[in-house]
Amino acid sequence: METLREFERDLGEMREYYSQGKTKEASWRKSQLKGLLTLLKEKEGDILNALMQDLGKHQVETFRDEIGTLIKTLNLALESLREWMSGRKAKLPQIALLTSAEIVPEPLGLVLIISSWNFPFGLSLEPMIGALAAGNTVVLKPSELAPASASLLATAISTYLDNKAVKVMQGGPSMGEQLLQQRWDKIFFTGSANVGRIVMSAAVKHLTPVTLELGGKCPAVLDSLSSSWDIKVAVKRIVYGKYGCCAGQACVAIDYILVEKKFIRTVVELMKSMIKEMFGENPKESHSIARIINKQHLLRLENLLKDPHVHPSIVYGGSVDEDNLFIEPTILVDPPLQAEIMTDEIFGPLLPIITLEKIEDSIQFINSKPKALAIYCFTKNKTLQRRMISETSSGSVTINDTIIQYAADTLPFGGVGGSGFGRYHGKFSFDTFSHEKAIARRSFLTEFWFRFPPWNNHKFQL
Ligand code: NAD
Repeated sequence: METLREFERDLGEMREYYSQGKTKEASWRKSQLKGLLTLLKEKEGDILNALMQDLGKHQVETFRDEIGTLIKTLNLALESLREWMSGRKAKLPQIALLTSAEIVPEPLGLVLIISSWNFPFGLSLEPMIGALAAGNTVVLKPSELAPASASLLATAISTYLDNKAVKVMQGGPSMGEQLLQQRWDKIFFTGSANVGRIVMSAAVKHLTPVTLELGGKCPAVLDSLSSSWDIKVAVKRIVYGKYGCCAGQACVAIDYILVEKKFIRTVVELMKSMIKEMFGENPKESHSIARIINKQHLLRLENLLKDPHVHPSIVYGGSVDEDNLFIEPTILVDPPLQAEIMTDEIFGPLLPIITLEKIEDSIQFINSKPKALAIYCFTKNKTLQRRMISETSSGSVTINDTIIQYAADTLPFGGVGGSGFGRYHGKFSFDTFSHEKAIARRSFLTEFWFRFPPWNNHKFQL
C-alpha cells in the first residue's frame, strides 16, 4: 500500500502526463477502451469467481449485469468515439455575419471515481469507460466490501491499461477521505446519500464538479390487471426485478409495491408461486439468488424484520441464515409506514406490499416520499401511465417491466433530488466526463457599425 506522500507524487505525475496531451489523442483513448475489452474477455473467469466469492452471484447474473453490459458499452464507445469527439455545429446570432460555431468536447483532466460493492465491476468500469473515452486520467476507488472484486480490479487494470493515466486505490472510508482531500477535476460517486454529502463538502474546496449516483426507495405500482396472462407476466417481472438482481441489493431494485386492497390476495399467492418457480422450494439451496454482502448488512436487514410492529406483517419467508449470509425472499403486507423498513432504503430481499383503496392513490403516496431513482408502473391504463410520468419525479419511469432502463445505453441513468444528480451510460458517460466548450468563429469581411458605441437611436438585438 502506498503512503499518502507517494500517492500525492503519483497524482502529480498523472497531472503532468495529462498536460502532455497524450490522453487527448483518439488513438490513446481507443487503446484504453480496447484494453478494457481484452481485460473483460481474458479475465471473465476471474470476474465470475470474484463475484461468487464476494456476493455468491450466479455467473449468468454476473455476465448479464457486469461483463455483458460492459462489453456492450465498450463496443458502442469504440464505434462512436470519433463521432463523440467531433462535437457538433451550432448557430450564432444573425448579426454575426459570415460565422461558424460549434460545441467541442474537451476532457476535464484528472478524475476520481468512487464506487459501491453491489456491482463492483459495472459501477467502476461503466463510468471509467466514459472517463477514458473522453480523454481523462482516472483514479478509481472500488468498495472495500467486495474485496475479491476490488483486488482483481486493481491487478487487472494495472496490467491492461496505461499505468501513467489510470490507477486503482484500494481501501475503505479512510482511503476515501484521503482521496477527497486532493484536488480533482471531477468526482463521480456511487453510494449512499450520507457519504454523498461528504463527497460534496470536499468538492466545494476546489469547486470540483460532482456526479452523485445514490439510492433510495424505488416503488412498483401494480394495477389490478384483468387478464391472468398480464398479471402473471407482471408478477414474474417484479419477482425477478427484486430477488433476481443481487438479491435486492441494487439501487434500482424494487423497494416496495403498491396495490389495491382487493388485489392483494391474488398478488401474494402469485408471488409465492413465482418465487418457488425461480428459486425452488428451499431458496437457500438455490444458486440463482445472491448472498448478502456481509454480516453487518445481514444483521441490519434482520433487524428490520425483528421490529415487533413489522414482524406480524411477514406473509412469506423471513428466515435468516447468518453463517451462509442468506436471507430468504420475504414478502410483507402493510408493515407500519413509520417503521424503518418503510422509511429507509431496504437494499436486500425483503419486499413490503402496501395496499391502497384506489391505484391512483399511488401517485400521492410516491410524492410524499423523497424522489426515487426508479419508478416501476404495471398498468394498461394509459391515463395512469401518463399521470405517473407527468405527476411524479424520479430518475426514470419504467412501464410494465423492471431494471430494463438500467441496461439501455440510449437512456441517461441517474437520479434526481434525494436519489442523486448527474447521468451516465452510453454517450451520456462521455458527456459527464467532458466539458462542452463553445467555439465561435468570425470573418473580418463584414460588419454592422451600429453595434459599437457611441450608441444612437438604432436599437438592435444580438
Ligand atoms: P457507501 O456510501 O457506504 O460507500 C460507497 C463508497 O464510498 C465505497 O467505495 C466506500 O468505501 C466509500 N466511502 C465510505 N465512506 C467514505 C468516506 N467517509 N469518505 C469517502 N469515501 C467513503 O455506500 P455502499 O454501501 O457502497 O452502497 C450502498 C448505497 O449505494 C445504497 O444507497 C445504494 O442505493 C447506492 N447505490 C447507488 C447506485 C446508483 O447507480 N445510483 C448503485 C449502487 C449503489
